[in-house]
Amino acid sequence: MIVGGNWKCNLTRAKALELAEQLNELDTTDVEVVVAPVALHVPLVQAKLKRAVSLAAQNCGFAGNGAYTGEVSAEQLVALEVPWVIIGHSERRTHFREDDDLLAAKLDDALKAGLRVIFCVGESHAERAAGQTVEVCVRQLAGVLRLPRFTPARVVLAYEPVWAIGTGLVATPAQAQQTHAALRAHVARERSAEVAARLRIQYGGSVSAANCAELAALPDVDGFLVGGASLRAAEFATIVRSCA
Ligand code: 13P
Repeated sequence: MIVGGNWKCNLTRAKALELAEQLNELDTTDVEVVVAPVALHVPLVQAKLKRAVSLAAQNCGFAGNGAYTGEVSAEQLVALEVPWVIIGHSERRTHFREDDDLLAAKLDDALKAGLRVIFCVGESHAERAAGQTVEVCVRQLAGVLRLPRFTPARVVLAYEPVWAIGTGLVATPAQAQQTHAALRAHVARERSAEVAARLRIQYGGSVSAANCAELAALPDVDGFLVGGASLRAAEFATIVRSCA
């Protein structure tokens, strides 16, 4: 199981360091834990973390170093010994208009540079209401599953329904299980049964101390990508332990 803490564009330098200090108390036995501060704070948090908590960036470029003002390249993250990056978060898709082609290019560039990737997919409220959940996620995965560098050792999927992110409206266990199972079946068809079986699929969207145990027990849920609750060390610890 793998649990990610996506800090999004939150925390000052001092608060990020305080949270990193608290993460040094986390029991990570039997759970892989990755936290993603803003890029600017990554080296500071990295210097503070002592235990087995890995770091992720929340985004990276699509074409290595070069004339890409405002971007941070996968290569630069690797040089800083940052092992992970989150790609395709719905906030990147919505606010920064990142489309499926760009995200597949980012994923390929990140894998080429040697990063491991948490790749996010998920449907909007209207798409779920229209019965298009799996269709939307499959479309978001089309370019990704075609990449020869896509392997379960290097890529983790995160199913994050947009309507569940930051809303308190967590997916029901049935909704999460059905979607995760459908995505795994799709990966089996597109790649192989072995790839699908090894692929870890996280659930994200209003995960909390109150709902994590029920979701963690589902057969196709292999961990969480946590937003708001990852900013609260005690609650994040509870979520991590639910995956042990
Ligand atoms: P919340 O846990 O705040 O709903 O955010 C989920 C998320 O977007 C993690 O990437």
